[in-house]
Amino acid sequence: MAKFNSDNFLTHLKGKWEGRPCPLCGVGNWNISDSVYELREFHGGGLVIGSGPIVPVVPVTCSNCGNTIMVNAILSGAVEKPEKKEGQND
Ligand SMILES: [Zn+2]
Repeated sequence: MAKFNSDNFLTHLKGKWEGRPCPLCGVGNWNISDSVYELREFHGGGLVIGSGPIVPVVPVTCSNCGNTIMVNAILSGAVEKPEKKEGQND
């Protein structure tokens, strides 16, 4: 799982962002990742398999200062909401 619906994502960004500059450096020029990443809950440093929600995000990085904004991949339409958790049996 890596690629996503970039048309949906770009339409979402254009509609919400409206060309505003980077809030950190005031410049901008954004680079959109071509992959979806996951945020998972922190469990004191130990890796916990199969528990807890995962938040899918698309990183958008300012090419001037490196400020990285993570946009939820489901809310932006980049990926469809999964119907059930991975690993579940029928
Ligand atoms: Zn910046």
